Formats: sequence, C-alpha cells, structure tokens
Amino acid sequence: MFDTPHRRFNSLTGEWVLVSPHRAKRPWQGQVEKTLSEKLPHYDPGCYLCPGNERAGGLHNPAYEGTFVFDNDFASLLPPDPDQAGAQPAAVESPLLVATPELGLCRVVCFSPRHDLTLPELEIPAIENVITTWTRASADLASMDFINYVQVFENKGAAMGCSNPHPHSQLWAQSQLPNEITKELASQGAYLATHARPLLLDYLDQEHKRQDRLLFRSEHFSALVPFWAVWPFEVMVVAHRPTAALSDLTPAEVTSLAAIFKQVTTAYDNLFEVSFPYSMGFHQAPADGQPHPEWVLHAHFYPPLLRSATVRKFMVGYEMLAMPQRDITPEAAADRLRALSPVHYKQR
Ligand SMILES: [Zn+2]
Ligand SMILES: [Zn+2]
Repeated sequence: MFDTPHRRFNSLTGEWVLVSPHRAKRPWQGQVEKTLSEKLPHYDPGCYLCPGNERAGGLHNPAYEGTFVFDNDFASLLPPDPDQAGAQPAAVESPLLVATPELGLCRVVCFSPRHDLTLPELEIPAIENVITTWTRASADLASMDFINYVQVFENKGAAMGCSNPHPHSQLWAQSQLPNEITKELASQGAYLATHARPLLLDYLDQEHKRQDRLLFRSEHFSALVPFWAVWPFEVMVVAHRPTAALSDLTPAEVTSLAAIFKQVTTAYDNLFEVSFPYSMGFHQAPADGQPHPEWVLHAHFYPPLLRSATVRKFMVGYEMLAMPQRDITPEAAADRLRALSPVHYKQR
C-alpha cells in the first residue's frame, strides 16, 4: 500500500477514510489520559452491578454466579405502553422536518459476579457463557413484534464513557434500523445481488491471501485490522460463513468466537500493558423476520488509544467536519498487535 497520504474506501459502509502515515511521528503536547492503575476488588459494596447490591429504585441484584441480565434502570428506549394501545404518536413528516416514534428495550449483561475480571481475564468457558447470554437475550428481544434490530455492545474503560468498571455490556433493541446497519445492509445487499456471494466472505478471502492485516484465524472466525480501519487499533472479528445473527452459531462456533475474543482482548491489554478501553459491538442482520443471505455476523472493536496508555486519538476538527483520518496504517497496527505475547500481562 502507499506510504504517502491516500484515502481508502470502506466497502461495508460506503464511506472513505484519509490515511496519513507520515504523521505518526509528530510531537504530542495534547491531552494525556489518566491510567487507572488501582487494583479493583473482587467485590465492591458500592457497585450497583455486584451480586446482592442495591440498584437505582431500590431493586436488589440476586446473588448471581454466572452472567446476570436485567432491564436497564435508565433505558434510552421504551416499549409500547400497554395502557395506550393504538395510541402511539404519529410520524411528523414535512419535507424538512421528519421525526418518527421509536420503540425499544435496553438490557444490561454483567459478564460475571467478579467486579475485577474483564473479558481477556476470563477463562474461555466463561467467555462462551457471556456469548450464549448475548445470544439468548438477542433472540428474546428479536422475537418481540415491535423489535426489528438488536445491538449488543460493550463500552470498556472511562476513556469510552463507561460509567461503572464492573465488566458488563448492553443490548439496545429497537423498532427501526440504526444508521450503521442501514449502510451495511445496503452495501451487502447490493454486493450479493451483483456477485452472488456475500461481501464479507469475498473480503475475508482477500485478507486470508494477503495476511498483512490478519491477526488471528481459527476454523470458524478471523480477526483482522480492516483495510478501511478508522481507529488506530481497530479490529473486526468475522464469521467464516453467512450468519444473520448470534443465534445462527453452532456450539463449535461459539467456542471458536470465545477463543478469538480472548486473543483480541489479550493483545489489546498487552499493547500498552493497561486495561485497553474500547467500544465493541456485534452487527447482526435486521430482526425483521426476513432471510438475510447477504449478511455475515461480525463484531467491531473501536479502541481510542493511539501511541501509549495515555495518548488517545481524537475524532475532532477535520474528522468532525470532513472525514475520518488516521496516522498509522492498518498494516502497521496489525504488525504491532501480531507481535505481542498471547499471555495476558497480568498473568505472566
Ligand atoms: Zn461490581
Ligand atoms: Zn458492521
């Protein structure tokens, strides 16, 4: 690829990213993040996610031993009001003022009772248990007639706005498709119609041949730094066959996914020897009752750190006003992630 400024096309979203490899060495006098080096306790009596503790509104968590799922006490989406059946507000549509009501549900999934164990620190069976919990919760939400899409995601670390260090994730299920899914559905649908093959499987073939952005590959999943990555150490985990949802995965695929999640998150923590912040989420096909042969289940990891545990990439100025821009090439980022120990730095 180029070592001079160039732009790359994201075939999945139809957007461009500007790559400026020569800028990686510029001096940094900007914001330095605080690192959270304090050791967390196994149990925190003040944490609203720990077993047995009180949450907002006076509810008490059960003494859970595996994962724990509950309705978000501060949900951003609300289900239909049973007392107002048929009385939902109508869409507002004048040419320049368009608004439609959105229905939905928000749930929280705690990974384990342990306040201090993040994904890479869990054993593979415990990560499988988290994936199985996401799968069941997604399928449960997708089965509701007012739900058409389920977003599973984890915000990890204060740098990503995570409000509680107890390892947890969220599901937001809603009645209409969010922007990212609308873009990816259009690209994958158009590609299947033209090439009679899913876009992401043809993309994976290219990455498997080239190897330079590939991080980990098992029988059922691959992890790679996408050709069109925006965040410095962005990673995508992609299934090896057409799969519309987590519920399409076989038990062997769930085990394979758990193993590759452990590899990716361990590499992240080992990069700067810090609990690596990120936003991670699965992209499943719309839960609209239609077949989705164009779709290949995948997860995106968007981590903000750039050059150290304390210097992050900001999406400001040009990124807000023009287009995303990155300072290190995806190939250089993949080289660095591949070179790391497979053993978590806290367990060495
Ligand atoms: Zn806790
Ligand atoms: Zn996606």
